[in-house]
Amino acid sequence: MYNPASKKAEEFISHEEILETLSYAQAHKNDEQLAYAILEKARAKKGLSHREASVLLDCEIPKVNEEIFRLANEIKQEFYGNRIVMFAPLYLSNYCVNGCLYCPYHLKNKHIARKKLTQEEVRKEVIALQDMGHKRLAIEAGEDPVNNPIEYILECIKTIYSVHHKNGDIRRVNVNIAATTVENYRKLKDAGIGTYILFQETYHKESYEKLHPTGPKHDYCYHTEAMDRAMEGGIDDVGLGVLFGLEMYRYEFAGLLMHAEHLEAACGVGPHTISVPRVKRADDIDPDAFDNGIDDDTFAKIIACIRIAVPYTGMIISTRESKACRERVLKYGISQISGGSKTSVGGYYEPEEEEENSAQFDVSDTRTLDEVVCWLMEGGYIPSFCTACYREGRTGDRFMSLCKSGQIQNCCHPNALMTLKEYLEDYASEKTRSVGEALIVREIENIPKENVKEIVRERLVKIAQGERDFRF
Ligand code: SAM
Repeated sequence: MYNPASKKAEEFISHEEILETLSYAQAHKNDEQLAYAILEKARAKKGLSHREASVLLDCEIPKVNEEIFRLANEIKQEFYGNRIVMFAPLYLSNYCVNGCLYCPYHLKNKHIARKKLTQEEVRKEVIALQDMGHKRLAIEAGEDPVNNPIEYILECIKTIYSVHHKNGDIRRVNVNIAATTVENYRKLKDAGIGTYILFQETYHKESYEKLHPTGPKHDYCYHTEAMDRAMEGGIDDVGLGVLFGLEMYRYEFAGLLMHAEHLEAACGVGPHTISVPRVKRADDIDPDAFDNGIDDDTFAKIIACIRIAVPYTGMIISTRESKACRERVLKYGISQISGGSKTSVGGYYEPEEEEENSAQFDVSDTRTLDEVVCWLMEGGYIPSFCTACYREGRTGDRFMSLCKSGQIQNCCHPNALMTLKEYLEDYASEKTRSVGEALIVREIENIPKENVKEIVRERLVKIAQGERDFRF
């Protein structure tokens, strides 16, 4: 029985409801009248239901598809402007007791180098990341109650926040670790984490169980209900995602939106972010072994349809994707990207020799952070190192109200410019710096309020003189 407000995974992600949604979408994929009615609703920018969005995803009418991409771009502009938030993953440990078939960390993989950072190594990694210019991290770890218990994760978070190298500072630590208990989520909240991220991998229960044959992650309901427990533990910024390629993308798309609807209905606040990873080649993993891989066109359409369906939810794309692919989808709704990423344990301060590969997957975008920052600016985007919202208590529904009030341009836009200025002063190459300085001069003019503009100008001068960490 489908019930978005239920706390039971199989009721808020109802298999029957997804199947009905998919056949409804298929039946109407050439229904111009319905497609235009849905687009009309989408233009109000208050989102769409999973069923409506699924019709658009399946739609084969070229004119409608053009309008989907145009509207996604418009929504992106209106809610997120041209800012792109920057982050990097930090792999703490690849010890794992699970048997996930797509992940090289799986227990039976005996040829991957197993590593777990000591606190001294965490410090070194953080210094390396700070020296690149990062302010926001997503920490990653395999699931292993003996090697990576919650106490270890908490200790690492404490270490990360304690490191201040030169002008460096990690101001927001997001956490991507396995589903856990309410008590542990409360501990993560108390440790000052930003978003708790957990990818569903697949919403299809039968496939999920096959893809996770052994280990605690095998339990579909425990995994799917994790965000409810995280919210119960006080974390109100949660990040959803599926690993595209494992199951039929249309199924995952509907499941993802149903999960977002569930969080709204049951917890009063939707997901803070949605990630869109695709399965990649990795040690012991051949992505071709999964027969649901999606091409770049379908990928772009999924992103555009998510943007239209959940306008207030940020969207993240990682270095799993190539420069060309990232460039294309930035327009349609991506608001956060990683740069200069290493997916190996300890990979930032000590790049690995090939034979001791501990990486989780191959990255496609191997550019440095400086190159990514410069490329974004040349494309008209503002790379933002802002972490103000959660430090000012604007999480969960308070962040959503900021979005809804239209005040983002007076708040996020100046914060982006000020944190970019810090980056240019402390870490940028000469070329990036000159592109960035010109961009800041242009973009100050796009702050609507005169008094905010004035404050920003004063603060930019102070940043050039060495002061740091201003925020609205
Ligand atoms: N261990 C935690 C868990 O079970 O959720 C999370 C950390 S894991 C390091 C982060 C994510 O990487 C996984 O949720 C999965 O979606 C993704 N991943 C695993 N293997 C991958 C592969 N071969 N290609 C792309 N992404 C992969």
